[in-house]
Amino acid sequence: MEGKRKIAVVRCDITAEACPGTGCFKAFNGRKVKFSDYDDDTEMAAFFTCGGCPGRRTYRLAKSLKKSGIDTVHLSSCMLMENYPECPHVDSIRKTFEDAGFEVVEGTHH
Ligand code: SF4
Repeated sequence: MEGKRKIAVVRCDITAEACPGTGCFKAFNGRKVKFSDYDDDTEMAAFFTCGGCPGRRTYRLAKSLKKSGIDTVHLSSCMLMENYPECPHVDSIRKTFEDAGFEVVEGTHH
């Protein structure tokens, strides 16, 4: 792969009302938890919400991510954990990104 590796995080639009994303960024900046395999050159190039149920922005944004050279999308921990609003659409959101050719990683900071 040429140049820096670029990754993105998609997160829950509902949880984003009360979460500024600091846990995700702290984990990424420290290369911890689900980001531990990335080297220092890896760039968090996009951080966005799904746009609300049922993940209405994800298809359109997948195309933009490709143009930006991003190859990996993390599903945020808030989309996957039981003590947050359980996402009933996570499987289709995952498939949207997989079908668009991204590597999909489950989780961010948990
Ligand atoms: S689709 Fe899932 S991740 Fe998106 S707002 Fe709804 S519950 Fe949250």
